[in-house]
Amino acid sequence: MKIETKCLHEGYSPKNGEPRALPIYQSTTYTYDSTEHIGRLFDLTDDGHMYSRISNPTVAAVEEKLAALEGGVGALCTTSGQAASLISILNIMKAGDHFISASTIYGGTINLFAVTLKRFGIECTFVDPEASADEVQKAFRPNTKAVFGETIANPAISIFDIEKFAQIAHKNNVPLIIDNTFATPVLCKPIEYGADIVIHSTTKYMDGHAVQVGGVIIDSGKFNWKNGNFPEFTEPDPSYHGIIYTDSFGEAAYIVKARVQLMRDIGAYPSANAAFLLNLGLETLPIRMEKHSRNAEKIADFLNDSDKIEFVNYPTLKENKYNELMKKYLPLGCSGVVSFSIKGGRENAIKFMDALTLASNVVHVADIRTCVLHPASSTHRQLTDKQLVDAGISPGLIRLSVGLENIEDIIDDVKQALDRIN
Ligand SMILES: *Cc1c(COP(=O)(O)O)cnc(C)c1O
Repeated sequence: MKIETKCLHEGYSPKNGEPRALPIYQSTTYTYDSTEHIGRLFDLTDDGHMYSRISNPTVAAVEEKLAALEGGVGALCTTSGQAASLISILNIMKAGDHFISASTIYGGTINLFAVTLKRFGIECTFVDPEASADEVQKAFRPNTKAVFGETIANPAISIFDIEKFAQIAHKNNVPLIIDNTFATPVLCKPIEYGADIVIHSTTKYMDGHAVQVGGVIIDSGKFNWKNGNFPEFTEPDPSYHGIIYTDSFGEAAYIVKARVQLMRDIGAYPSANAAFLLNLGLETLPIRMEKHSRNAEKIADFLNDSDKIEFVNYPTLKENKYNELMKKYLPLGCSGVVSFSIKGGRENAIKFMDALTLASNVVHVADIRTCVLHPASSTHRQLTDKQLVDAGISPGLIRLSVGLENIEDIIDDVKQALDRIN
């Protein structure tokens, strides 16, 4: 099936007389005929739901769809994108371990990696994504366990060279984890370029309507956890009667372990209702991504022609340095997020934002409604000036998330706001 069809039909196929739309299974527990059957569930020798902190039929249907969309062997939904990032790392690292991340990633992820994980004894080295393979290699240590990057970085709108980093990661026997939030599998499927684990904040385009925070981790099933670097996968887990994940679950070892071990202990599993809302968003994702991308291309051209703008970041612009990577990774479009800097820095940026009438000033992105944000005073406020520069953010940078309104109305709004600036 092609992606449009998968978005509508994967994960749930009603049988004769069953509801056409995905039902919301609003239940914390599941009944079984025998204690012996429940025992098998706890031994992980039998499939089945036991408790909605670990799995639920509505969420499971959406997980199956998400795995199919990215081309993975399994998926685990989480209550937020942050929970997905955290669990994706904790599933392979413990205190004393180290990993490498591109510096151009979401501000919340930088906090998690640089501050919170560090308190747990897991260290992250940030590298310039444009660095050569040799330079990146220098960041590896004997205890390095993964490499992390974002397909389209928020808010620098830079494109990550997934294949280059997959090669470096694999040469060092560690997996590549990709945050594919902005691209979505409609525009890019990182597993096709060598990514081993894909994560998303589903809060963004997947939900698309600004109604439900959520996240997901998808396992490609391709990484060799038996390479000697990951004993937690190949040695008995004392919390499950000594189960060995690679022996019992084969190519799905990573995603099963994340669920039955970490989700069991952390408890960041979404509700059935949350998964139902996410599924509604997924059903129309391809048609929305196409329109977001076309609208963004037009607004990027408009901004680029204005003499009040210092620079515009959008890969389809002729002078954009990501033209080549765009052709390779994002041939269908680059999503609806454009960032730009207005002449006159922070002061004029704020003046412009406050003058917009159609575009709303919100701490959100990737919505069907056009919205705008000033990263330096909101999402990235906690970063130091150096971290801001490394993440590709200048004080006057504005992030415009182009919605699905008629493009002429969006341009009119931007134009009248620019006219108010001297
Ligand atoms: C928003 C975002 C996150 C965090 O997701 P939440 O759902 O807000 O927790 C992670 N990565 C990227 C690229 C994001 O845009």
